[in-house]
Parts: sequence; C-alpha cells; structure tokens
Amino acid sequence: MNKKGHVLNAVLLSIGLGYILEPATELAAVPATLETMVMIAVPVTLGAMVPDIDTAFGKHRKTLHNLPLLLAFFVFPLHFGNLEFVWIGVLTHYVLDMAGSRRGIALFYPLSSTEYDLPTGVPVSSRYATIVTVLVTGVELILAAAIVFDVPRWGLEVGRQAIGM
Ligand SMILES: [Zn+2]
Repeated sequence: MNKKGHVLNAVLLSIGLGYILEPATELAAVPATLETMVMIAVPVTLGAMVPDIDTAFGKHRKTLHNLPLLLAFFVFPLHFGNLEFVWIGVLTHYVLDMAGSRRGIALFYPLSSTEYDLPTGVPVSSRYATIVTVLVTGVELILAAAIVFDVPRWGLEVGRQAIGM
C-alpha cells in the first residue's frame, strides 16, 4: 500500500482499538474513549510510517519489513519505557502489505530475502486499494476484539479448571 493507505489503516485501527480498550457505554465516558484513541493513534500512525522508510535506503519490503524489526519495537518500551504502541503501527503495516497488496514482505530478512505474501489483495495502484485497506482494518479489529475480550475469559476458564473450581 502507499502512504495514504497506511495512514488510513493506522487511524481507523486506532479509533477501533481506542473503543475496544476504553469503550464508552454512556455519554460521560466519551472523553476517556476519545483520549485513548488519541493516545493510541499518534504512536500507531508513526509506527505505520516506519517500514516504508526503506524506499529511501536499503531494500524496499525487506530492510524495514521484517520480524526482527517488529520484535525490536515490541521490546523497546519494555526496556526503555517509551515508544509504547509503535509496534502496533509496524505490525499493521506488515499485515496491510501482506493481505492488501500483491507483493509480499521479507519477514525473515536479513536471514532470508524471500518475500511472504497472502493470496489476497490488489495492486497498490488499484482503484479498490482504499476499500481493501478498510476491509483489512475491519478484520484486524475483529481479531483485536477477540484477543482483548475472549483471551482473558478463556484464560480465566483454564485457570478455574486448573484449580478445580
Ligand atoms: Zn510497506
């Protein structure tokens, strides 16, 4: 996808994630939800811009489109206490490139230059690129909601059974 697509993906994803993490069930809770959306949207959008910096140096869809870079952004906040949520932007960039466009990315670069792709997506220049971006974002939000809402419940069930409750 092009820069416009990645920004659209990051902003829509952040709006959805903000609602999933801080759902407003009444009017008084709306400011907290909006604040969560902004808190997530800024670092996620910045993160979504990072991979395509490799159009300027290195090898595009390789140098800054790989799992080691994603891991680095994931552990950075755990160690240094800042750049939280940037990894989500990097991850969603990878997902959109793999699921939304025709060319894959070199997940294991620099160990391997093989590009991995999903059998979905349209050419970056396609007039359907925007709708595909929105669809990919929707699937990401369904998965995120499943993780946020179902995994803790499932963990609780397993925990309960483990201690025989
Ligand atoms: Zn890219």
